[in-house]
Amino acid sequence: MSIPLQGGTVPRESEFLGEPSIAMDVLTEFDATDWERPERAELLLSAIVDSSDDAIVSKDLNGIITSWNLGAERLFGYEAREVIGRPVTILIPPERWSEETEILSQLRRGNRVDHFETIRRRKDGTLLDISLTVSPIKDSTGHVIGASKIARNITERKRTEAALIASETRFRQLADSMPQIVWTATPDGYVDYYNERWFEFTGFPRDSFGDERWVDLLHPQDLDAARDQWSESIHSGNPFNIEVRFWDRRASRWRWFISRALPGRDSAGRITKWFGSCTDIDDQKHAQEELRRANDDLEQFGYSASHDLQEPLRSIKIYSQLLSERYGSHLDGDALQFLGFLQQGATRMEMLVRDLLTYTQIPGSERPTQPTDAQSAFDLTLESLAGSIAETGAVVTSSALPMLPVHNVHLHQLFQNLIQNAIKYRSPDRVPAIAVEAVREREQWHFTVTDNGIGIHSMYKEKIFGLFKRLHSEHDYSGTGIGLAICQRIVSRYQCRIWVESEPGKGSVFHFTLPA
Ligand code: ADP
Repeated sequence: MSIPLQGGTVPRESEFLGEPSIAMDVLTEFDATDWERPERAELLLSAIVDSSDDAIVSKDLNGIITSWNLGAERLFGYEAREVIGRPVTILIPPERWSEETEILSQLRRGNRVDHFETIRRRKDGTLLDISLTVSPIKDSTGHVIGASKIARNITERKRTEAALIASETRFRQLADSMPQIVWTATPDGYVDYYNERWFEFTGFPRDSFGDERWVDLLHPQDLDAARDQWSESIHSGNPFNIEVRFWDRRASRWRWFISRALPGRDSAGRITKWFGSCTDIDDQKHAQEELRRANDDLEQFGYSASHDLQEPLRSIKIYSQLLSERYGSHLDGDALQFLGFLQQGATRMEMLVRDLLTYTQIPGSERPTQPTDAQSAFDLTLESLAGSIAETGAVVTSSALPMLPVHNVHLHQLFQNLIQNAIKYRSPDRVPAIAVEAVREREQWHFTVTDNGIGIHSMYKEKIFGLFKRLHSEHDYSGTGIGLAICQRIVSRYQCRIWVESEPGKGSVFHFTLPA
């Protein structure tokens, strides 16, 4: 678009609309020497002023409007001819007239008014949020003869600010209504907000933020771990998650909290804020500790009881055997039968004691230093079950099995118990077919042991994992009811799960997960 500058007419608004590069277009019409000519320069200035999005207005020292650009027409709705020669107060709501008196007195002193945010009125009476910059205009002798005023429409910005304040207020109300401590931090990790719970808990003044505040309250043993993890999260953007102790000033003791934080990101994926919480898990921690102690005691008791039982059991077995060997011929039918019951009881008791010992001896939760090859654990299980596999004709297959960070003995026990059961609880109508598979699911391996056996009614799906829980009599299927409890105990050592899906008469699928 070209602008007709000849003839001295100021371009009309319609010619400028939507042309941000208007000042450049003006320049291209000029020959370099044109700059020197005052009337050209004035015309150029006038075109630039009119192309501005801001309202540019000049007034004399009595507040009478002397010029009015197109930006002012757009902003206030008055055309230049309607306002030139009229007092600038037509733009000011009456309750703000005193502002103009103050602005004029500043101007007379030669001062400038910078980015003054206020409200002005349009021709149609609607109010506008604007930012004003008013500068004195001086003559060649330095006397102030008037003022230029640039008004920028900031209604949209004000609206955004108001929306932001409203959303911030909502966030704070929500955060304050929560039982947890809630906090936010800047992308570099500086804590810049805590909700009321924090100040109630710590007794700190409401305006204290920053690192030193939480660092002061942390248990010395948790400090390094918390700091390391926090700086790791800030660098990597990974979620922050740690259990720490804070000093509870009211109870004069340490309390356990779980502290978590997630990063908030902008559309480009950059972290703009961290949103964190600290949840009191002190009661839960103590209950866990109690439970762990009770479990340890029980384990100890189970271990000693089963261990100590072995000795008298052996005596019963040996002497009942001697009795039947040496004096069997002197005993009558009933006595021999009773002796048989005694021996069977002792054998069963021996099995129970052996399984109970295995159950109590499952090693702790420490991860092994070397990964275990699930394939070799599976092969080893097939070797140890070779007798029953041959006897029943069972077909046991597996997919490729992974290496994983669990104890070798644990994997072996899992395979052993599940495959043994799959053979034991086979259907009388078909040859047992058993398949072991492993599928990677994010941080875990998901194993399945599928059989085509007698199946399990859905109402027993959870019960069967309990200690001594059996669905059949010893007469139908021998067993102690400890095998699945052992499996359950092993997977829970790794915070993993075991469960079963089954259809009576068709078969069962035992699922368990282990860490990857
Ligand atoms: P046990 O086999 O010594 O009785 P377990 O703890 O291994 O003890 O199993 C508990 C019960 O779960 C078993 O008594 C049996 O009723 C049922 N069960 C286990 N595995 C299977 C299976 N593959 N198919 C059908 N029932 C099963």
